Amino acid sequence: MSKRDFYEVLGVERGASAAEMKKAFRKLALKYHPDRNPDDADAEERFKEAAEAYEVLSDDDKRARYDRFGHAGLGGAAQRPSEDIFSHFGDIFGDLFGGGRRNRNRPTRGSDLRYDLEITLEEAVAGARHELVIPRVQSCGTCEGRGLKPGAQTSTCGQCNGRGQVSRAQGPFMFSMTCSRCQGSGQSVREEDHCGDCGGSGKERVERRVQVRVPPGVDTGTRMRVSGEGEPGERGGPTGDLYVVLVVQPHDRFERDGDDLHTEVTIDVATAALGGKTEVGLIDGGTERVKLPAGIQPDERVRIRSKGVPHLNGSGRGDLYAHVRVQIPKKLSREQKKLFERLAATGISPS
Ligand SMILES: [Zn+2]
Ligand SMILES: [Zn+2]
Repeated sequence: MSKRDFYEVLGVERGASAAEMKKAFRKLALKYHPDRNPDDADAEERFKEAAEAYEVLSDDDKRARYDRFGHAGLGGAAQRPSEDIFSHFGDIFGDLFGGGRRNRNRPTRGSDLRYDLEITLEEAVAGARHELVIPRVQSCGTCEGRGLKPGAQTSTCGQCNGRGQVSRAQGPFMFSMTCSRCQGSGQSVREEDHCGDCGGSGKERVERRVQVRVPPGVDTGTRMRVSGEGEPGERGGPTGDLYVVLVVQPHDRFERDGDDLHTEVTIDVATAALGGKTEVGLIDGGTERVKLPAGIQPDERVRIRSKGVPHLNGSGRGDLYAHVRVQIPKKLSREQKKLFERLAATGISPS
């Protein structure tokens, strides 16, 4: 099989700088990386081809020989397997692939969990306490996460000799992979020594009850962190956090706008014309007596200070706006009808 030109493989000019080649390789490597293309032989081939080209062209000495003599100039050099392609290019994969591969036996922090909690508007205003039931996987209590029967011992995994990783040759390169027998722990356990309660996984499923206090003033999207109530860490790593994300249900009488609330108040025609007092219902329960000016119009609003939603970070509250609805009487007594007629005769029609 004839080999493709290395510059062509990377898609760069012959005079390309180290930075240009690194960029080009990174792009190809991310596209064809085996982790992203499982069981795709073609992608794996393209990945190895790009890796080989980059390994040669990123090395000044090898690049010079390749430029002068082509593939023949490399002789056996390029055929020699690189010890570990991923650690070799670790700076390129960086956090994407590089970090995790070598650190499988290090303690890792547990995942964070998210819980969407629906509350009423009243609860958002007054604050509330809720008990959440969080299903989570935690360390098996019987074996303390070791997966072993009491008194049983582990032995060094025979497949990887305790490294947790095995090397697999693919063409000219060696890939480091997690040992399939011990899942990277480097230790093996006889079947009969597995903990009976967790089957050797070291984990059990439990429902945890977590008390959360919702402070006054929260809104939909407010996120509350409950430290240490996420998934447990691996190999002694710290537990993740629980994030409670609030959803405030819509209310049938109050609409929220930031920390202000809007509601409606219905008055009769006489009160609208003459002014007067009326009661406005509050979100806390109870009512507030408000004074209306004479001649108030439908849809005008009256502000009631500090009867809105408490400010979450600070003191004070938003305001409540009562939007006026004027009810026109549908049925009039004979006397009322006469009075309206007399009223009309005085000339109150709109000009
Ligand atoms: Zn167990
Ligand atoms: Zn192993």
